[in-house]
Amino acid sequence: MSSRKRAIEDVTVAKKKQKGNPPMAHHGLENQGATCYLNSVLQVLFMTTEIHDRLDPDKKLQVADEELRNLFAQLKETTCGTENITKSLKIENVGQQRDAAECLEMILHKVSSGVTEVFKGQLKHTTTCSEGHCIIEEMCPFLTLPLSLRGTSDQSQEASYSVESGFEKIFQEKTFSGDDMVYCDECEKDTEATSKCQIEFPRVLVVLLKRFDMDYNTMKHVKSNRCVDVPRTLQRMDKTCQLYAIVNHMGGLQGGHYTATVLSNEDETWYEFDDSRVRKLEEQPFTNSMTYSSSTAYLLVYRASESPERQEDGGKDARDKERKPREQKPVDQDQAPKEGIEEAQGEPLLPQSQNTHDMSHLHLNVQQKVNNRKHRPSGKGTHRNDHESSTNILKKPCVIALIVCGCLLVVILIIILVTQPV
Ligand SMILES: [Zn+2]
Repeated sequence: MSSRKRAIEDVTVAKKKQKGNPPMAHHGLENQGATCYLNSVLQVLFMTTEIHDRLDPDKKLQVADEELRNLFAQLKETTCGTENITKSLKIENVGQQRDAAECLEMILHKVSSGVTEVFKGQLKHTTTCSEGHCIIEEMCPFLTLPLSLRGTSDQSQEASYSVESGFEKIFQEKTFSGDDMVYCDECEKDTEATSKCQIEFPRVLVVLLKRFDMDYNTMKHVKSNRCVDVPRTLQRMDKTCQLYAIVNHMGGLQGGHYTATVLSNEDETWYEFDDSRVRKLEEQPFTNSMTYSSSTAYLLVYRASESPERQEDGGKDARDKERKPREQKPVDQDQAPKEGIEEAQGEPLLPQSQNTHDMSHLHLNVQQKVNNRKHRPSGKGTHRNDHESSTNILKKPCVIALIVCGCLLVVILIIILVTQPV
Protein backbone atom coordinates (compact mmCIF):
# COMPACT_ATOMS: atom_id res chain seq x y z
CA MET A 1 0.00 0.00 0.00
CA SER A 2 1.18 3.45 -0.78
CA SER A 3 1.92 5.69 2.12
CA ARG A 4 -1.23 7.55 2.96
CA LYS A 5 0.08 10.51 4.80
CA ARG A 6 -2.75 12.90 5.13
CA ALA A 7 -2.76 16.50 6.03
CA ILE A 8 -4.04 17.04 9.49
CA GLU A 9 -7.57 17.81 8.63
CA ASP A 10 -9.87 17.63 11.47
CA VAL A 11 -13.16 17.01 9.88
CA THR A 12 -15.33 17.27 12.85
CA VAL A 13 -18.68 15.80 12.39
CA ALA A 14 -20.96 17.33 14.85
CA LYS A 15 -24.57 16.69 15.18
CA LYS A 16 -26.66 18.52 17.61
CA LYS A 17 -28.67 16.18 19.65
CA GLN A 18 -32.27 16.88 19.96
CA LYS A 19 -33.45 18.53 23.14
CA GLY A 20 -30.51 20.93 23.09
CA ASN A 21 -27.70 18.67 24.23
CA PRO A 22 -24.14 19.84 23.50
CA PRO A 23 -22.84 19.07 20.01
CA MET A 24 -21.18 15.72 19.62
CA ALA A 25 -17.99 15.40 17.62
CA HIS A 26 -15.86 12.55 16.41
CA HIS A 27 -12.21 12.88 15.55
CA GLY A 28 -9.82 11.00 13.35
CA LEU A 29 -6.36 9.51 13.80
CA GLU A 30 -3.36 10.51 11.74
CA ASN A 31 -1.78 7.89 9.53
CA GLN A 32 1.94 7.43 10.26
CA GLY A 33 2.59 5.71 6.94
CA ALA A 34 0.52 2.57 6.61
CA THR A 35 -1.06 2.49 10.04
CA CYS A 36 -4.68 2.53 8.85
CA TYR A 37 -5.06 -1.01 10.30
CA LEU A 38 -4.17 0.37 13.74
CA ASN A 39 -6.35 3.47 13.39
CA SER A 40 -9.41 1.40 12.49
CA VAL A 41 -8.92 -0.90 15.47
CA LEU A 42 -8.29 2.04 17.84
CA GLN A 43 -11.51 3.77 16.73
CA VAL A 44 -13.44 0.56 17.45
CA LEU A 45 -11.82 0.29 20.90
CA PHE A 46 -12.60 3.96 21.56
CA MET A 47 -16.27 3.26 20.84
CA THR A 48 -16.15 0.17 23.06
CA THR A 49 -16.89 2.18 26.17
CA GLU A 50 -16.99 -0.96 28.34
CA ILE A 51 -13.21 -1.05 28.34
CA HIS A 52 -12.52 2.60 29.22
CA ASP A 53 -12.85 2.15 32.97
CA ARG A 54 -10.99 -1.13 32.87
CA LEU A 55 -7.80 0.46 31.57
CA ASP A 56 -5.59 0.41 34.62
CA PRO A 57 -4.25 3.91 35.35
CA ASP A 58 -1.71 2.85 37.98
CA LYS A 59 -0.19 -0.20 36.54
CA LYS A 60 3.06 1.05 35.10
CA LEU A 61 3.75 -2.38 33.69
CA GLN A 62 0.77 -2.17 31.39
CA VAL A 63 2.12 0.57 29.16
CA ALA A 64 -0.58 -0.07 26.60
CA ASP A 65 -3.29 0.73 29.20
CA GLU A 66 -1.73 4.07 29.94
CA GLU A 67 -1.26 5.00 26.30
CA LEU A 68 -4.79 3.95 25.40
CA ARG A 69 -6.19 6.04 28.24
CA ASN A 70 -4.24 9.05 27.06
CA LEU A 71 -5.32 8.52 23.47
CA PHE A 72 -9.00 8.14 24.35
CA ALA A 73 -8.86 11.32 26.44
CA GLN A 74 -7.35 13.26 23.52
CA LEU A 75 -9.65 11.69 20.96
CA LYS A 76 -12.61 13.24 22.72
CA GLU A 77 -11.15 16.67 21.92
CA THR A 78 -9.28 16.51 18.64
CA THR A 79 -7.53 14.55 15.90
CA CYS A 80 -4.60 12.61 17.36
CA GLY A 81 -1.34 11.01 16.42
CA THR A 82 -0.59 7.43 17.40
CA GLU A 83 3.19 7.59 17.90
CA ASN A 84 2.99 6.69 21.59
CA ILE A 85 0.72 3.76 20.83
CA THR A 86 3.00 2.31 18.15
CA LYS A 87 5.93 2.76 20.53
CA SER A 88 4.16 0.93 23.37
CA LEU A 89 3.10 -1.84 20.97
CA LYS A 90 6.69 -2.02 19.68
CA ILE A 91 5.60 -1.44 16.08
CA GLU A 92 8.80 -0.21 14.49
CA ASN A 93 8.04 -0.11 10.80
CA VAL A 94 5.00 2.14 10.49
CA GLY A 95 5.24 1.96 6.69
CA GLN A 96 4.42 -1.73 6.67
CA GLN A 97 0.80 -2.69 6.33
CA ARG A 98 -0.43 -5.22 8.84
CA ASP A 99 -3.51 -7.21 9.56
CA ALA A 100 -6.16 -5.41 11.59
CA ALA A 101 -7.35 -8.61 13.30
CA GLU A 102 -3.83 -9.44 14.45
CA CYS A 103 -3.36 -5.86 15.56
CA LEU A 104 -6.49 -6.13 17.72
CA GLU A 105 -5.29 -9.38 19.28
CA MET A 106 -1.85 -7.89 19.88
CA ILE A 107 -3.39 -4.92 21.72
CA LEU A 108 -5.60 -7.26 23.76
CA HIS A 109 -2.54 -9.21 24.84
CA LYS A 110 -0.79 -6.05 26.00
CA VAL A 111 -3.51 -4.54 28.15
CA SER A 112 -4.83 -5.47 31.61
CA SER A 113 -6.63 -8.77 31.82
CA GLY A 114 -9.80 -6.89 32.76
CA VAL A 115 -9.87 -5.37 29.29
CA THR A 116 -9.09 -8.64 27.49
CA GLU A 117 -11.86 -10.31 29.49
CA VAL A 118 -14.47 -8.19 27.67
CA PHE A 119 -13.54 -9.86 24.35
CA LYS A 120 -12.88 -13.37 25.59
CA GLY A 121 -15.44 -16.01 24.64
CA GLN A 122 -15.35 -19.78 24.63
CA LEU A 123 -16.54 -22.57 22.37
CA LYS A 124 -17.31 -25.78 24.18
CA HIS A 125 -17.10 -28.93 22.05
CA THR A 126 -18.69 -32.05 23.49
CA THR A 127 -18.73 -35.52 21.95
CA THR A 128 -21.14 -38.00 23.53
CA CYS A 129 -21.81 -41.65 22.75
CA SER A 130 -25.28 -43.03 21.96
CA GLU A 131 -25.64 -43.98 25.65
CA GLY A 132 -24.99 -40.38 26.69
CA HIS A 133 -21.46 -40.85 28.04
CA CYS A 134 -19.20 -37.88 27.54
CA ILE A 135 -16.29 -39.03 25.36
CA ILE A 136 -14.53 -35.73 24.76
CA GLU A 137 -15.11 -32.29 26.22
CA GLU A 138 -13.01 -29.36 25.21
CA MET A 139 -13.07 -25.63 25.86
CA CYS A 140 -11.65 -23.39 23.13
CA PRO A 141 -11.21 -19.78 24.21
CA PHE A 142 -11.18 -17.10 21.51
CA LEU A 143 -10.76 -13.35 21.15
CA THR A 144 -12.01 -13.28 17.56
CA LEU A 145 -14.45 -15.79 16.10
CA PRO A 146 -13.37 -16.66 12.56
CA LEU A 147 -15.86 -17.53 9.81
CA SER A 148 -14.68 -19.05 6.57
CA LEU A 149 -16.23 -17.42 3.52
CA ARG A 150 -15.84 -20.73 1.70
CA GLY A 151 -17.84 -22.54 4.30
CA THR A 152 -21.36 -22.29 2.90
CA SER A 153 -23.13 -24.69 0.59
CA ASP A 154 -23.16 -22.01 -2.07
CA GLN A 155 -19.48 -21.87 -2.94
CA SER A 156 -20.00 -19.43 -5.74
CA GLN A 157 -18.02 -16.26 -5.22
CA GLU A 158 -20.82 -14.39 -6.99
CA ALA A 159 -23.41 -15.25 -4.39
CA SER A 160 -23.29 -13.25 -1.20
CA TYR A 161 -22.26 -14.94 2.02
CA SER A 162 -24.69 -14.98 4.91
CA VAL A 163 -22.90 -14.28 8.17
CA GLU A 164 -25.94 -15.55 10.03
CA SER A 165 -25.79 -18.98 8.31
CA GLY A 166 -22.02 -19.14 8.76
CA PHE A 167 -22.44 -18.44 12.46
CA GLU A 168 -25.20 -21.07 12.80
CA LYS A 169 -23.02 -23.61 11.05
CA ILE A 170 -20.60 -23.61 13.99
CA PHE A 171 -23.33 -25.14 16.13
CA GLN A 172 -24.48 -27.84 13.71
CA GLU A 173 -24.39 -31.25 15.32
CA LYS A 174 -22.08 -33.80 13.77
CA THR A 175 -22.86 -37.53 13.91
CA PHE A 176 -20.26 -40.29 13.82
CA SER A 177 -21.66 -43.65 12.69
CA GLY A 178 -20.73 -46.68 10.58
CA ASP A 179 -17.05 -46.48 9.68
CA ASP A 180 -16.83 -43.27 11.70
CA MET A 181 -17.83 -44.76 15.04
CA VAL A 182 -15.94 -43.57 18.10
CA TYR A 183 -14.55 -45.61 20.99
CA CYS A 184 -16.28 -44.98 24.31
CA ASP A 185 -14.37 -45.91 27.47
CA GLU A 186 -17.56 -46.43 29.47
CA CYS A 187 -19.22 -48.69 26.89
CA GLU A 188 -15.83 -50.28 26.16
CA LYS A 189 -16.59 -50.43 22.45
CA ASP A 190 -16.98 -48.36 19.30
CA THR A 191 -20.28 -46.54 19.38
CA GLU A 192 -22.20 -43.97 17.43
CA ALA A 193 -21.43 -40.51 18.72
CA THR A 194 -22.56 -36.91 18.36
CA SER A 195 -20.43 -33.76 18.53
CA LYS A 196 -22.02 -30.54 19.70
CA CYS A 197 -20.70 -27.02 20.07
CA GLN A 198 -21.89 -24.40 22.53
CA ILE A 199 -20.76 -20.83 22.88
CA GLU A 200 -20.08 -18.74 25.94
CA PHE A 201 -20.47 -15.23 24.55
CA PRO A 202 -18.01 -12.53 25.47
CA ARG A 203 -19.45 -9.09 26.23
CA VAL A 204 -18.01 -7.91 22.94
CA LEU A 205 -17.97 -10.50 20.16
CA VAL A 206 -15.57 -9.89 17.27
CA VAL A 207 -16.42 -11.97 14.20
CA LEU A 208 -13.57 -12.31 11.73
CA LEU A 209 -14.54 -12.87 8.09
CA LYS A 210 -11.70 -14.83 6.58
CA ARG A 211 -11.14 -12.76 3.47
CA PHE A 212 -7.47 -13.70 3.47
CA ASP A 213 -7.45 -17.39 2.84
CA MET A 214 -5.62 -20.20 1.11
CA ASP A 215 -6.81 -21.27 -2.34
CA TYR A 216 -6.11 -25.01 -2.24
CA ASN A 217 -6.33 -25.32 -6.03
CA THR A 218 -3.42 -22.99 -6.58
CA MET A 219 -1.90 -23.31 -3.08
CA LYS A 220 -1.68 -19.53 -2.95
CA HIS A 221 -3.09 -17.01 -0.54
CA VAL A 222 -5.97 -15.02 -1.90
CA LYS A 223 -8.07 -12.07 -0.83
CA SER A 224 -11.78 -12.58 -1.25
CA ASN A 225 -13.93 -9.57 -2.06
CA ARG A 226 -17.06 -11.63 -1.72
CA CYS A 227 -20.13 -9.70 -0.73
CA VAL A 228 -21.35 -10.57 2.75
CA ASP A 229 -24.74 -10.02 4.33
CA VAL A 230 -24.03 -8.68 7.79
CA PRO A 231 -26.93 -9.09 10.22
CA ARG A 232 -27.73 -6.33 12.68
CA THR A 233 -28.18 -8.94 15.38
CA LEU A 234 -26.75 -12.37 16.02
CA GLN A 235 -28.80 -14.67 18.17
CA ARG A 236 -28.04 -17.86 19.99
CA MET A 237 -30.22 -19.40 22.66
CA ASP A 238 -31.26 -16.56 24.96
CA LYS A 239 -28.47 -14.22 23.92
CA THR A 240 -28.72 -11.41 21.41
CA CYS A 241 -25.75 -9.49 20.07
CA GLN A 242 -26.06 -6.11 18.37
CA LEU A 243 -23.61 -4.92 15.75
CA TYR A 244 -21.96 -1.59 16.49
CA ALA A 245 -18.73 -1.57 14.51
CA ILE A 246 -17.17 -2.92 11.33
CA VAL A 247 -13.51 -2.84 10.28
CA ASN A 248 -13.35 -2.75 6.46
CA HIS A 249 -10.53 -3.77 4.17
CA MET A 250 -10.37 -2.50 0.61
CA GLY A 251 -7.80 -3.78 -1.86
CA GLY A 252 -5.87 -6.98 -2.40
CA LEU A 253 -3.29 -9.17 -0.73
CA GLN A 254 -0.34 -6.95 -1.53
CA GLY A 255 -1.87 -3.71 -0.44
CA GLY A 256 -5.04 -2.07 0.60
CA HIS A 257 -6.65 0.24 3.05
CA TYR A 258 -8.55 -0.15 6.30
CA THR A 259 -11.41 1.98 7.58
CA ALA A 260 -13.88 1.58 10.43
CA THR A 261 -17.64 2.00 10.27
CA VAL A 262 -18.90 2.66 13.75
CA LEU A 263 -22.25 3.38 15.35
CA SER A 264 -21.92 6.33 17.67
CA ASN A 265 -23.55 5.63 20.98
CA GLU A 266 -24.17 9.32 21.41
CA ASP A 267 -26.44 9.96 18.46
CA GLU A 268 -27.13 6.42 17.20
CA THR A 269 -25.64 7.37 13.83
CA TRP A 270 -23.13 5.40 11.74
CA TYR A 271 -19.84 7.14 10.95
CA GLU A 272 -16.93 6.19 8.76
CA PHE A 273 -13.47 6.64 10.24
CA ASP A 274 -10.88 6.86 7.50
CA ASP A 275 -7.65 7.81 9.29
CA SER A 276 -7.94 11.53 10.03
CA ARG A 277 -11.19 11.88 8.12
CA VAL A 278 -14.51 11.22 9.76
CA ARG A 279 -17.82 11.41 7.97
CA LYS A 280 -21.37 10.52 8.67
CA LEU A 281 -22.56 7.77 6.34
CA GLU A 282 -25.01 9.16 3.82
CA GLU A 283 -26.76 5.86 3.56
CA GLN A 284 -27.20 4.65 7.09
CA PRO A 285 -26.96 0.85 7.37
CA PHE A 286 -29.99 -1.11 8.54
CA THR A 287 -32.49 1.65 7.84
CA ASN A 288 -34.53 -0.46 5.41
CA SER A 289 -33.23 -3.92 6.10
CA MET A 290 -32.02 -6.13 8.93
CA THR A 291 -28.86 -6.94 6.97
CA TYR A 292 -26.13 -4.78 5.51
CA SER A 293 -24.37 -5.90 2.33
CA SER A 294 -20.68 -5.25 2.11
CA SER A 295 -17.76 -6.51 0.07
CA THR A 296 -15.22 -4.89 2.39
CA ALA A 297 -16.43 -5.85 5.90
CA TYR A 298 -13.63 -7.76 7.62
CA LEU A 299 -14.20 -7.59 11.39
CA LEU A 300 -17.73 -7.37 12.77
CA VAL A 301 -18.04 -6.17 16.34
CA TYR A 302 -21.14 -7.13 18.30
CA ARG A 303 -22.20 -6.19 21.80
CA ALA A 304 -23.99 -8.90 23.76
CA SER A 305 -27.11 -7.77 25.50
CA GLU A 306 -27.41 -8.82 29.09
CA SER A 307 -30.23 -11.09 30.09
CA PRO A 308 -29.42 -11.06 33.80
CA GLU A 309 -30.97 -14.16 35.38
CA ARG A 310 -30.39 -16.70 32.65
CA GLN A 311 -26.89 -15.46 32.02
CA GLU A 312 -25.92 -15.56 35.68
CA ASP A 313 -27.11 -19.15 36.06
CA GLY A 314 -25.71 -20.32 32.75
CA GLY A 315 -22.39 -18.66 33.37
CA LYS A 316 -22.09 -20.23 36.82
CA ASP A 317 -22.94 -23.69 35.51
CA ALA A 318 -20.35 -23.47 32.82
CA ARG A 319 -17.68 -22.24 35.23
CA ASP A 320 -18.44 -24.99 37.75
CA LYS A 321 -18.21 -27.61 35.07
CA GLU A 322 -14.95 -26.17 33.94
CA ARG A 323 -13.49 -26.43 37.43
CA LYS A 324 -14.35 -30.12 37.72
CA PRO A 325 -11.21 -32.12 37.08
CA ARG A 326 -11.63 -33.85 33.76
CA GLU A 327 -11.10 -37.55 33.59
CA GLN A 328 -7.65 -38.13 32.21
CA LYS A 329 -7.60 -40.55 29.35
CA PRO A 330 -4.14 -42.02 28.76
CA VAL A 331 -4.18 -41.83 24.97
CA ASP A 332 -5.30 -38.23 24.98
CA GLN A 333 -2.72 -36.93 27.37
CA ASP A 334 -0.36 -35.76 24.68
CA GLN A 335 -3.25 -33.89 23.14
CA ALA A 336 -4.33 -31.89 26.14
CA PRO A 337 -6.54 -28.99 25.09
CA LYS A 338 -4.45 -26.08 24.02
CA GLU A 339 -5.34 -22.70 25.31
CA GLY A 340 -5.85 -20.89 22.06
CA ILE A 341 -5.25 -17.54 23.63
CA GLU A 342 -2.04 -18.52 25.32
CA GLU A 343 -0.91 -19.97 22.02
CA ALA A 344 -1.64 -16.83 20.09
CA GLN A 345 0.36 -14.76 22.54
CA GLY A 346 3.71 -15.90 21.25
CA GLU A 347 2.88 -15.63 17.60
CA PRO A 348 4.76 -13.14 15.51
CA LEU A 349 2.64 -10.48 13.93
CA LEU A 350 2.71 -11.26 10.25
CA PRO A 351 1.01 -8.99 7.79
CA GLN A 352 -2.10 -10.60 6.35
CA SER A 353 -1.32 -13.91 7.95
CA GLN A 354 -4.13 -16.32 7.29
CA ASN A 355 -3.55 -19.20 9.61
CA THR A 356 -3.75 -17.64 13.01
CA HIS A 357 -7.45 -16.97 12.59
CA ASP A 358 -8.35 -20.31 11.20
CA MET A 359 -11.47 -21.68 12.78
CA SER A 360 -10.17 -25.11 11.90
CA HIS A 361 -7.69 -25.01 14.79
CA LEU A 362 -10.67 -24.74 17.12
CA HIS A 363 -12.23 -27.82 15.51
CA LEU A 364 -9.08 -29.73 14.71
CA ASN A 365 -8.28 -30.89 18.21
CA VAL A 366 -11.76 -32.29 18.59
CA GLN A 367 -11.62 -34.03 15.22
CA GLN A 368 -8.20 -35.48 16.04
CA LYS A 369 -9.42 -36.76 19.36
CA VAL A 370 -12.41 -38.37 17.73
CA ASN A 371 -10.13 -39.96 15.12
CA ASN A 372 -7.90 -41.31 17.87
CA ARG A 373 -10.86 -43.06 19.36
CA LYS A 374 -12.09 -44.75 16.22
CA HIS A 375 -11.75 -48.54 16.30
CA ARG A 376 -9.28 -48.42 19.14
CA PRO A 377 -8.71 -51.77 20.82
CA SER A 378 -9.59 -51.40 24.46
CA GLY A 379 -6.37 -50.21 26.01
CA LYS A 380 -7.65 -48.41 29.02
CA GLY A 381 -5.33 -47.74 31.93
CA THR A 382 -4.20 -50.76 33.93
CA HIS A 383 -5.62 -53.31 31.50
CA ARG A 384 -3.39 -52.09 28.77
CA ASN A 385 -0.72 -54.84 29.16
CA ASP A 386 -3.30 -57.64 29.09
CA HIS A 387 -4.56 -56.47 25.76
CA GLU A 388 -1.26 -56.03 23.99
CA SER A 389 -1.51 -57.96 20.77
CA SER A 390 1.27 -59.89 19.13
CA THR A 391 1.69 -57.19 16.53
CA ASN A 392 2.43 -54.73 19.31
CA ILE A 393 5.08 -57.06 20.76
CA LEU A 394 6.70 -57.29 17.35
CA LYS A 395 7.09 -53.54 17.33
CA LYS A 396 9.49 -53.57 20.29
CA PRO A 397 13.10 -53.28 19.01
CA CYS A 398 14.68 -55.63 21.57
CA VAL A 399 12.25 -58.41 20.66
CA ILE A 400 13.02 -57.96 16.96
CA ALA A 401 16.77 -58.03 17.69
CA LEU A 402 16.37 -61.28 19.65
CA ILE A 403 14.43 -62.93 16.84
CA VAL A 404 17.02 -61.84 14.25
CA CYS A 405 19.86 -63.19 16.45
CA GLY A 406 18.02 -66.49 16.86
CA CYS A 407 17.52 -66.83 13.11
CA LEU A 408 21.20 -66.05 12.47
CA LEU A 409 22.28 -68.73 14.98
CA VAL A 410 20.08 -71.36 13.29
CA VAL A 411 21.50 -70.45 9.84
CA ILE A 412 25.10 -70.66 11.14
CA LEU A 413 24.36 -74.05 12.77
CA ILE A 414 22.91 -75.40 9.51
CA ILE A 415 25.96 -74.14 7.55
CA ILE A 416 28.32 -75.81 10.07
CA LEU A 417 26.38 -79.09 9.93
CA VAL A 418 26.21 -79.12 6.11
CA THR A 419 29.90 -78.29 5.63
CA GLN A 420 31.06 -80.90 8.20
CA PRO A 421 32.89 -83.81 6.47
CA VAL A 422 31.03 -87.07 6.98
ZN1 LIG B 1 -20.70 -44.90 26.05
